[in-house]
Amino acid sequence: MPELPEVETVRRGLQPSMEGAKILKAEARRKDLRFPFQKDFVARLEGQTVAGLGRRAKYLMADLTSGDVLLMHLGMSGSFRVLKDDDRNAPGHFHYERNQDRAHDHVIFHMSSGAAIIFNDPRRFGYMKIIPRNALEDEPLLKGLGPEPLGNEFDAAMLARSCANKKTSLKAALLDQRVVAGLGNIYVCEALFRARLSPRRLAATLATKKGEPAEYARRLVTAIHDILNQAIKAGGSSLRDHRQTNGELGYFQHSFRVYDREGEKCPAPGCGGTIKRFTQNGRSTFWCPKCQK
Ligand code: ZN
Repeated sequence: MPELPEVETVRRGLQPSMEGAKILKAEARRKDLRFPFQKDFVARLEGQTVAGLGRRAKYLMADLTSGDVLLMHLGMSGSFRVLKDDDRNAPGHFHYERNQDRAHDHVIFHMSSGAAIIFNDPRRFGYMKIIPRNALEDEPLLKGLGPEPLGNEFDAAMLARSCANKKTSLKAALLDQRVVAGLGNIYVCEALFRARLSPRRLAATLATKKGEPAEYARRLVTAIHDILNQAIKAGGSSLRDHRQTNGELGYFQHSFRVYDREGEKCPAPGCGGTIKRFTQNGRSTFWCPKCQK
């Protein structure tokens, strides 16, 4: 499932073909993805120029000159690919690694940049919705989302405040989108490992009795920043390699230190522990019980 860094990579990959370009034609090839398309979905897109392509948590947000915003979510298996004019004239140039089946190409934007932007989603948990920009604040999908983990707002003091009275584990708190937006299972496991904090630790221990951030909170925020920035950077490099081959955006194999590495030796220098897995709030947690306290 794509997490924040993958969505950010997709945004950067789409930007050159979308920003400043007009949507000449939009195709919604079915009635629904995870939710039904709005009845006027195509009509509100065609003829509009994309003034900017932003991101909030795991949502891509295309700002249209009409004053609407096109919200796009990749769901579990959604991916975009960008087909350029010259690619279309080169038979056999395209090969689809992630999904071979064009039957799962559900939405296509034909841009004035000459690119066709294709959304493919075999499992159809992805979705798109058009919202007037001035109604974004009231949009239920966005309401209640906490701060962006890479934004200025999110720091140790804020994290400590949000966790101060929580009776949950640190892992559960970080997955709570009201505490911080866009973090998923993989990056939470990785951030806790890097911060050497146990996923079972009580979230409230991030704050001192006075409600100030404990040293753990600073460590954790630094770890979250580092892991996300590294993943976005890696996504950027694979984007450059990728675009030369098939234009597909969104799925890159990052190397994780603990995620999906049950039974392997802990990669922390001098630790000597073993990566373990257990189920926590219905999700797999990977961690090193020896160095994460
Ligand atoms: Zn360890």
